[in-house]
Amino acid sequence: MKIEKISHKSLSETASGKLAASLLDGSLVQGAQLPPERELMNQLGISRATLREALKALEENRLVEARPHVGWFARKIDETNITQAKELAGGSAVAASPSAASEPRTGPRRIPVSPVKPIHIPYLQTDRLGTFEFISWWEREKVQKAKVLVIGAGALGNEVIKNLALMGVGHIFIIDFDKIEAANLSRSVLFRESDNNRSKAEVAAARAKAVNPAVHIQYLNADVTTGLGLGIVRRMDAIIGCLDNREARLAVNRFCYWMNKPWVDGAIQELLGLMRVFVPGEGACYECTLTEQALRDLSIRYSCQLLARQNVLLGKVPTTPTIASIIGGIQSQEALKLIHDMPVEAGKVVHFNGLNNEMHTTAYVPREECESHWAYGDITELPARAERTSLHDLLRIARVDLGEQAVIELDQELVTSLECPSCHTTEQVLRPLSEITFEAGHCPTCGLLREAQFTHLIDGTENFLHRTLSSVGVPPLHILRAQNGVEYRFYELSGDLPKALHFRHFEHNVAEKTNPAKDQIRLKDEVLVVDSPVNAARGRVRIKEEPAKIADPVKSAIRQIKIRQGKETGRQEKKISEPAVKHIRYMSPQKSHRIISKPGRGRVKVCKI
Ligand SMILES: [Zn+2]
Ligand SMILES: [Zn+2]
Repeated sequence: MKIEKISHKSLSETASGKLAASLLDGSLVQGAQLPPERELMNQLGISRATLREALKALEENRLVEARPHVGWFARKIDETNITQAKELAGGSAVAASPSAASEPRTGPRRIPVSPVKPIHIPYLQTDRLGTFEFISWWEREKVQKAKVLVIGAGALGNEVIKNLALMGVGHIFIIDFDKIEAANLSRSVLFRESDNNRSKAEVAAARAKAVNPAVHIQYLNADVTTGLGLGIVRRMDAIIGCLDNREARLAVNRFCYWMNKPWVDGAIQELLGLMRVFVPGEGACYECTLTEQALRDLSIRYSCQLLARQNVLLGKVPTTPTIASIIGGIQSQEALKLIHDMPVEAGKVVHFNGLNNEMHTTAYVPREECESHWAYGDITELPARAERTSLHDLLRIARVDLGEQAVIELDQELVTSLECPSCHTTEQVLRPLSEITFEAGHCPTCGLLREAQFTHLIDGTENFLHRTLSSVGVPPLHILRAQNGVEYRFYELSGDLPKALHFRHFEHNVAEKTNPAKDQIRLKDEVLVVDSPVNAARGRVRIKEEPAKIADPVKSAIRQIKIRQGKETGRQEKKISEPAVKHIRYMSPQKSHRIISKPGRGRVKVCKI
């Protein structure tokens, strides 16, 4: 009787054996790049760590090589490594390797056809993206379907937007609050002299459309820290930050973590620049890179935000179009890799010093206690719009889900009144802090800076519950949080979807938009947008409404929640209890005056300047 020994191979050894066998039988093409890690993980049914271990083993045996920042490549099999290949492949079907292993080592050799990418000969006279087809890993469909958010349309933004348009990235969303001035013209390829005083986002979007009419473009004139609905971030494949200040970077970093999206940051000054990719759950995030002092500075600035906003405008950094194009170029490439699911060096920084042309990469240390490391749980898509829904409406919905103790947490502070310390006059305001200017903060009679009362928790006792969400600073398609001290719910204003996210600016057939019969806007890819609340969102649609009863979306939403709760038990309930306790102190960038806030109570006094 012959019994075979039980294999003691580890999972990674088995995996490296299989990969070696694939090299030998030609199913992995020698000299070519290996498929993306995710694909290999799926095919082999192993984790990323195991795969990397296997690849390391292959690398030690000179069968594959890692090209920094590109990926893994299969080496040519020749007399120097064929023994190792066979050894590693071992039992993994070497017998069925008709090509390399069995053929003579010299002389003609059969070239296997890549199983991954079919050969496609582009017609370069008419196909503007044709040459990209010759890039081994390029996937036209992925690039055309991709949705990329570009935050900031300054020097870096111009370069990034230009690159994305040239590469045919199918959907580009541009946000910036600034206007073009003459000084921008020296480093912004998309701007012209005649654009003076026009919106940066709009002009950049129009020019990108002119660069490549095949891409779909949308722009938004808004401050990213306050004017960008999270539902937009949620529907992106990659986010590129082309920012010039920490406040905005910190906000973008948190948005991306909350929505579990990767983002690419760039920064430039004179001839120096840096680029880094942050991926939630992989290494350090932007906030991890800030020193204690920087965080303290930011929190002081938030609480005295009236001044902070003024200072941001003053802090202009000198840059050149050349460094913008270098760093913007790297950023665009990283986004392209994210679109292709290729490996990126998350949590590391690439420094480029243009004075001596030195470039180096350093890894950041992730901080355990970092307050950015939170992700939203399941998101309920409400057929509601920021302009139409009142605080009261939303609170009612939250209370159906979370009980009577439910409160709504706003992302930014809502100033309820301004009181003069000298003449003791009080002005009722009810506007988001970011909308109050430095001048408006001062008393009109004695000119002193007034003390502000503000809140970010809506608990139902307010006398302004009838106000709409947009009037208290909630942007369209935003995702709001509600909590009852134990668990959280997240509500998206999905009724805003057709207006807030369409990628149809500067399309030729804009006339259609005004046609009331054409309420239904259909986008060319998966973002299917319908104006009526029916099917207002895709994916985790939990709430539906009969088309006939649009009159009170809230009632209907509540009814649907009740139905849902009857049928479906606790999937959401289990989710997010843990962060709740800490939550009040971390959530929004605007809340960094948390140091003086009392946990559980939304009212805080602004610090005195
Ligand atoms: Zn962090
Ligand atoms: Zn006064």
